[in-house]
Amino acid sequence: MPETSPPQEKKRSFATFDTVVSNIDLLSPRNKGVRFAMPQNSSLAFNAGQYMQVFVPQGGKMRRTSYSIASAPQKNDSFELCVTLVDGGVSSSYIHQLKLGDKVRAMGPLGTFRLKEPVQNDLVFISTGSGIAPLRSMILDLLNRNTDRNIYLIFGNRYDDDILYKNEWESLTKQHPNFKFLFTLSRPTKAWTGETGYVQTHIEPFIRDPKNKDFYICGLIKMINDVQATLLNLGVPKERINFERYD
Ligand SMILES: Cc1cc2nc3c(=O)[nH]c(=O)nc-3n(C[C@H](O)[C@H](O)[C@H](O)COP(=O)(O)OP(=O)(O)OC[C@H]3O[C@@H](n4cnc5c(N)ncnc54)[C@H](O)[C@@H]3O)c2cc1C
Repeated sequence: MPETSPPQEKKRSFATFDTVVSNIDLLSPRNKGVRFAMPQNSSLAFNAGQYMQVFVPQGGKMRRTSYSIASAPQKNDSFELCVTLVDGGVSSSYIHQLKLGDKVRAMGPLGTFRLKEPVQNDLVFISTGSGIAPLRSMILDLLNRNTDRNIYLIFGNRYDDDILYKNEWESLTKQHPNFKFLFTLSRPTKAWTGETGYVQTHIEPFIRDPKNKDFYICGLIKMINDVQATLLNLGVPKERINFERYD
C-alpha cells in the first residue's frame, strides 16, 4: 500500500470513466506529459496532490496503476499525468505508447496528499523526478489563487535534461516574486553551473527558518526518508512534514 501523510478528511467517493488522450508532450528523454480529456459534459473535481488510477491491459486482464495529477485543479475538463518510462514497466510503457485520440479508462481522484487548508504558512516543496507531478499541481493551484505566502521548490534530478517543466518554473518565478526554485543535479555534466548533490543538502541555506514552514515531499522512499530526517534535525515539527511516496 502506498504510504501517505495522515489523512485530513474521510475518504471521498470516486468514479470510473473513459477519457481521451488530448495532448502528449515529451518532457524529458524518459518522461511524457499526457493530458486526458474527461467525457463530454463532465468534469473532474479534485484537490491538488491527488492521484488517478489508469486501467492498463495486461495479458487479457486489466491492472490499475496510480499516477499523480500534475495539472492545476482549476482546469477540470481534463487532467494531466507526468509519467517516467520504467525499463520493462508494464504501465509506464503502455502510457508512453498512447497516441492522440486513444481511449483510456481511469478512476479517481484518490488520495489524501493535499494542501492543508487554509494555507497560513510559507510552503516548501521538495521532489525528485516525476515526484514533481503532485507538487506542480499544488504550486499552480496556489499561484492561480494568488496566494501571498512564499513558495519554495527544491527539485532534484540526475541530469540537466531531466528537469521537468524547467521553462515553466523559470517563467513562473518571473511572474510571481513569491515563488523561488532551486534545481540540483546528482550527475551534472561539465556544462552545468548550478547546484549539485542531493535535495536534502540544499534545505539550508535556501530555506530560512524551516521550523515555521510547511513541507510537501514526493518521490521514492529513500529520498523521502533522507529529507524527513534532515527536517526533523532542523527542528521542523513532524506535523508540518507531508509526503507521498511512489514505491
Ligand atoms: C500514489 C502514487 C502516485 C504515483 N504517481 C506517479 C507519477 O505521477 N508518475 C510516475 O511516473 N509514477 C508514479 N507512480 C509510480 C507508478 O504507479 C508505477 O509504479 C510506475 O509507473 C511503474 O509502473 P510500471 O507498471 O511501468 O512498472 P512495473 O511493471 O510495475 O515494474 C517493472 C519493474 O520496474 C521496477 N520499478 C517500478 N517502478 C520503478 C521506478 N520508479 N524506478 C525504477 N524501477 C521501477 C519494478 O520493481 C519492476 O522490477 C506513483 C505511485 C503511487 C503509489
